[in-house]
Amino acid sequence: MTAWESFDRRHVWHPYASVLHPDPVYAVRSAHGARLELADGRSVVDGMASWWCAIHGYNVPELNEALSRQINRMAHVMFGGLTHEPAVRLAGRLLELVPDSLEHVFFADSGSVAVEVALKMALQFWLPNRPGKHKILTIRHGYHGDTFGAMSVCDPVTGMHHLFSGMLPQQLFVAAPSGEQWVYAAAEMESVLRTRGHEIAAVILEPIVQGAGGMRFYAPAFLRQVRKLCDTYEVLLILDEIATGFGRTGKMFACEHAGIEPDIMCLGKALTGGYMSLAAVLASHRVARGVEAGGQVLMHGPTFMANPLACSVALASIDLLLSSPWSERVERIEQAFRKGLESCRAAKGVADVRALGAIGVIEMKEPVDVPAIQESLLAKGVWLRPFARLIYAMPPYILTDQELALLVEAMVEVVHEC
Ligand SMILES: *Cc1c(COP(=O)(O)O)cnc(C)c1O
Repeated sequence: MTAWESFDRRHVWHPYASVLHPDPVYAVRSAHGARLELADGRSVVDGMASWWCAIHGYNVPELNEALSRQINRMAHVMFGGLTHEPAVRLAGRLLELVPDSLEHVFFADSGSVAVEVALKMALQFWLPNRPGKHKILTIRHGYHGDTFGAMSVCDPVTGMHHLFSGMLPQQLFVAAPSGEQWVYAAAEMESVLRTRGHEIAAVILEPIVQGAGGMRFYAPAFLRQVRKLCDTYEVLLILDEIATGFGRTGKMFACEHAGIEPDIMCLGKALTGGYMSLAAVLASHRVARGVEAGGQVLMHGPTFMANPLACSVALASIDLLLSSPWSERVERIEQAFRKGLESCRAAKGVADVRALGAIGVIEMKEPVDVPAIQESLLAKGVWLRPFARLIYAMPPYILTDQELALLVEAMVEVVHEC
């Protein structure tokens, strides 16, 4: 272990991890394509796309070029009272891509902050005329980020934030849809909206795929029903597409599976192709008008709002995605997961196997031993970060057929070792 690696172990926090008794971490020297080059010399296929962001893989010439072009002009300027082409062009590109009713863009610096801004928009929307509408309704098993507003709408049990439940705004939860049983979840949602709609500002959901709360998939029909209920009971619909946006589920945005449009949409993660932290909140004109109805403006403004480097690389990432056969690539990954992972279904300890778009999930019956599985997967040439009962992959779309086969094979083998 090098000096800096042992310094890491003594002083540096890693996500959701002990700083006093740290689990192993692996040093990465460089990354290109779908591969991470570890400091110990191994080259491994990255099945996580760096927490679902690096859709084009690493060291992408077009993205490197966009960044170096921008850095020679300016790395950053404040967005208060100033503006710049990268932000405005990115806003334009996003508005071309997202559902038509979304017309205004707020740039935030991370997904969690985007969720805070979306919640704030929804609260400010009702404040002038119906201030009693200040609660948020959501479904269980959701994950929307780690800041306090976002934590308040994460699953109270699986959302990693139960420690803080006493300190968070109390929101409303209903059952998450499950298979054909989604109608019961929809019925419960309707009953809460009917009795408490006068208190509810918005429903927030991850469309179709619930990510960090359990990698659960649900029926587009549920989402369509939620859209109808929100209209009937005069509640805004916020879709958190931070994990699902930019093709991950096989559509550009997961709401397209249901053919519905949100009032507010959050984007993040793959927005910059995994290069930098950037998020966006998109809102309809009606939402923007409502927010300002009382003579107020949206009260948010991060220091690094619309950072020009991040906006430039996001623009380049979207252009690269649109000029690539992304939908075929994602479909190919879905097919490989569907076929390849199926052989695990009968394995001891496996509760479920599922795939959608470039997402492959093996759900175990018991929580898995993450360090042991990681070590075994690395020996097979693959990087994954399982959590709770889930061994799953969300790889870069550009991984080769051989890399995809290696990834699937390693997942199957490791499940048989569990
Ligand atoms: C990752 C994620 C977030 C939080 O984004 P950060 O950039 O980590 O703050 C919010 N919502 C969903 C659905 C996510 O997957």
